Amino acid sequence: MKIADFEPVMEDREPNERGYQCLTFLCPACRRLRVQVAIWARPHGEVRWTDADGNACFERVWNAMQGPHRDWDTLSLSPSLDMAAHKLSGGRDDCPGWHGFIADGEVQRVLSADRQTAEAVPGTNT
Ligand SMILES: [Zn+2]
Repeated sequence: MKIADFEPVMEDREPNERGYQCLTFLCPACRRLRVQVAIWARPHGEVRWTDADGNACFERVWNAMQGPHRDWDTLSLSPSLDMAAHKLSGGRDDCPGWHGFIADGEVQRVLSADRQTAEAVPGTNT
């Protein structure tokens, strides 16, 4: 699956004052919750700051690489994304979360021992 199939939106046209932008897209597992990832061109890390009320804040920021035309099919994020399980509105079952990569626009789920129900990903069936 391509990231373009999960309704990606770059929420900020330009990096904010802390240097990152926010990307949102539909959770690959449930396609109901919009998940948000802070991204920048620098190595992944954490940004810490103090807000106007004096509260300590931090944000994990992922490294993003994208081709010169900034199309979704060239987007790669690192490291992998590990989304916690989350509740869904409307009385549906909770989403078990999702762990995977976005590489060259492809959304690739990581198969792990603790998620036996993970579906096969092409190229990883050993
Ligand atoms: Zn989900």
